This record gives sequence, C-alpha cells and structure tokens, in this order.
Amino acid sequence: MGTLKNLYDSSPRFMQNLYVNAYGIRNLSRFGEWDKLLREIEFTERLERQGQIELVEAKLKDIIDHAITNVPFYQKFSGLKADLGHRSVFEVLKELPVTNKATINEDPSAFLAGNQEPGVISKTSGTTGIPFTIHMDKNSFLLGDALWWRRTKWAGYEKGDWIARLVGDPVIPLRDKDPAKPWRLSWFDKRIYFSTFHLTEKTAAKIGAFLNRRKPAYIMGYPSSLEILCHYLKQTGFQMEWDLKNVFFSSEPMHAHQEVVIREVFKAEIRGLYGSGERVVSAAQCAHGNYHLSLVDGFVEGQFGIMDGVKPAAVTTLTNKLMPLIRYQVGDEIDTQPSLVCPCGRTLPVISPIITKHEDYIITPSGRKIAPSAVVWAFIHQEIKDINKSQVVQEDERTVKVYLNADQETFLKYRDVLKTSMGEVFFGEMDVEIVKTDRIDVMKSGKSRFIVNKMRNRYHDVSTGTDPEQM
Ligand SMILES: [Zn+2]
Repeated sequence: MGTLKNLYDSSPRFMQNLYVNAYGIRNLSRFGEWDKLLREIEFTERLERQGQIELVEAKLKDIIDHAITNVPFYQKFSGLKADLGHRSVFEVLKELPVTNKATINEDPSAFLAGNQEPGVISKTSGTTGIPFTIHMDKNSFLLGDALWWRRTKWAGYEKGDWIARLVGDPVIPLRDKDPAKPWRLSWFDKRIYFSTFHLTEKTAAKIGAFLNRRKPAYIMGYPSSLEILCHYLKQTGFQMEWDLKNVFFSSEPMHAHQEVVIREVFKAEIRGLYGSGERVVSAAQCAHGNYHLSLVDGFVEGQFGIMDGVKPAAVTTLTNKLMPLIRYQVGDEIDTQPSLVCPCGRTLPVISPIITKHEDYIITPSGRKIAPSAVVWAFIHQEIKDINKSQVVQEDERTVKVYLNADQETFLKYRDVLKTSMGEVFFGEMDVEIVKTDRIDVMKSGKSRFIVNKMRNRYHDVSTGTDPEQM
C-alpha cells in the first residue's frame, strides 16, 4: 500500500487518472457482485418481525456453535454447545463475555478460527484510538461493501449517475500545495474523487465550478469535509445549477450546525450511513430519515427488544467465521428503537442516529462528562455562522481550547460570547481559550474530529478505508 501510494504520488497527472480509472474498472465488476448480494437479501427488508427473529436466531446459533468448536478463546464454553439445541439462542449468547478491541488485542490469535482459509485483513481504529486488525472471509467483506451501496440504491440511483466523493481518498499528492485540478475522474464507474486534504477557498471555487459542469447525482463526504467545502462555497458566491439527488455522509456524526450549511448550499436531502470498519453493524438512512439496521451483517443486542441493550452497544457477527466477533463493542452507543414503524415500508429495525462516539467527550475536574452534542449546543445557542471549521480540544485536566477556522472579523465577533457559553456548558469548571487557526488538523484518513480529548487518548489513525463506497 505504501509503495503503491508513493508510485501514484510520483506519477504525472495523466498517469494518476489512468490508475484511478483502472481502479474504476475493477469496481465495475464488484458492482455486479454487490447487486447479486443485494438481490439475495432484498426479502429481509420487508420481513415480519417474527421472520426477522428466526433468521437472526439461525445465524447466531450457527456462529456460536462454530466459535465454541473452532475458536480457541470460545472453546472453554463448550458446555453451552448442548444448550444451543433447547434454549433460546439469545439466552445462550448472554452467557458469553462482552468483548472489545482492548480485550481482543490481548491475544488476537485466540479469536481466529482454526479451520478457515485466510481472508481479507483490515485495520481499523474507529474513533476509539485503539488500532485493531480484523480478519474477514471474502464474503463478509463483500457484503459490507454491498450494504453501503444499498443506501445509494435506496436513494434512487440509476445507471449512469455520477457520484462525487469528498472523503479520505488521497488522490492528490500532499506536496502539491495548490493543485490546478483538486480532483481525479474515473469514467468507468463515474466517480469524481475530490481531495479533502486540499480544501481552501481557492480550490473550493474550482470545485464549485466543476460540480456545476459535471452535475453529479450524489455528493458523499465526511460531515466535517462537507461543512468546510460548503462554507467556502458560500464565500465564493456559489450557486447550484442542477438538482442533486442526495448528499451522503458517514464516518462521523452529523452535527446540527453542519447540516444547516450543507442543506443551504446543496439544497438536497442528507442521508447518513452508520457502519463499523469491522463490518459487524451497519444502518442506512431511508427517505423518512430513519436509520435501518441491515439485519444480515450483525446482531445488535436490543434491536428486537429481546435482549437489553449494552452500553456501548454489543454486536455479534452473523457472517464472519474467520474471526467471529461476539458481543463485541464497536465503541458507539446504539440506541435501538425496536417498536418504531417506518413509513417507508421497510421493516428493518430502526436505531437512533449515532450522536456520541463513546470515547469523545470532555471530562471536567469533578468528573462530569460533557457530550459533543452539548458542546455543539454552545455553538448553536450563539447562532454562530461563517466559521469554516471548529474543533474543541481538552488539553489537560482543566483547559479546553476551542479552535476556530475563521477570518479575523468573524473570530473577534464570536470570541467572547463563545468563551462565555462554552464556560457554561462545562459548568464553570474549565478554563476556555478561544484560538484562531488557519486550519484544523486533518488526520491521515482525511477525517477530523469535533472533540479531541488529549487526556483520554492519543489518536492514531490507521484506517485503510479505501474501498469504493466506504469512507
Ligand atoms: Zn424507513
């Protein structure tokens, strides 16, 4: 990967376009596989609840039986094997321990099944800052991609639609500080790859003009990247000259202040997708704004109202036999809504939007944990506009720095009111410093976080998420 990236970076632009298009050709063949998989699971979208439960029960039983038999860590639970025949599988599941990245990292090989072919290896850290390596069989990997693709299908995708991406694609070398064209085009699979890393007022103007020319059906991006782009587009007087079908986002929660500017600029509905790099859980937002769990990749405790939800949520794979994650905490709190009936007609269980990444909050000296949504409130409360990007960093026990990427006038306009409102949100326990900055640190993946708590973890991003529809 590193060598390929170096080769790509050192190539002239026409060669880079060639590489991007070669990747596009490979994608085309994968689209066929995804479509096939999606046809196979289409019936699950409208199953009655009892049918859903039976489907999940059968898969859970199979996975638990397999783990107890073939996965070293679970062999000590061999006594439960007989129970699988006559007890509720949800009851049996409850007897297995809750796991997470840290517990599995103590001895990762103990979680690998001994009887499986090597599969796809994927590294992830999510927002928890803990590097994690997951082994997946090829089908689980493919299913994960297909489920992301399904959101686009739900949103009315038609063959020939262009999709613009503003995610972590490293398509423009970083040494090129001011690229003439901050994008690469793949004609085969109709993708526009914008460089999240090169967003400035100048490149945004070029991107705006290019979008008006190319007229993609969809724009997908991280909320933070979309937010920055939209602020810049507003500054340059950008006007949409076509109708966008949807804006897509994932990987970060979408905060209210981000949603406002994105809607204002792109004049389209925004649809999210929640998924984990381990591909054990995913939920796509339908036209009615509800997040539907996929039902087929993993089981979230609480999704049927049968087991109580654990915090952070515990998820069990329904497909990956190579390294079966069981009662695995991806790190997010997933609020299941088992009795919600969605007007879209899909019966897939609904979850609330994931607002709080479990690890991301400010901790005050008295031990209060302040969630991002509360911090955001301090911004909203002041109706703060025209800030390109903001980041709240807990530097030490009682210091919070709020970084604002804004011009001098905007900065001075909000500095004092924000200091006051942030102070209130932290119950007067924190020293708040408002700092003007030209840029907010973007991590290797192209993501940036709204709240960084230096007290809790040092974030090392090792995500290799370069899959066609993932971000
Ligand atoms: Zn729905």
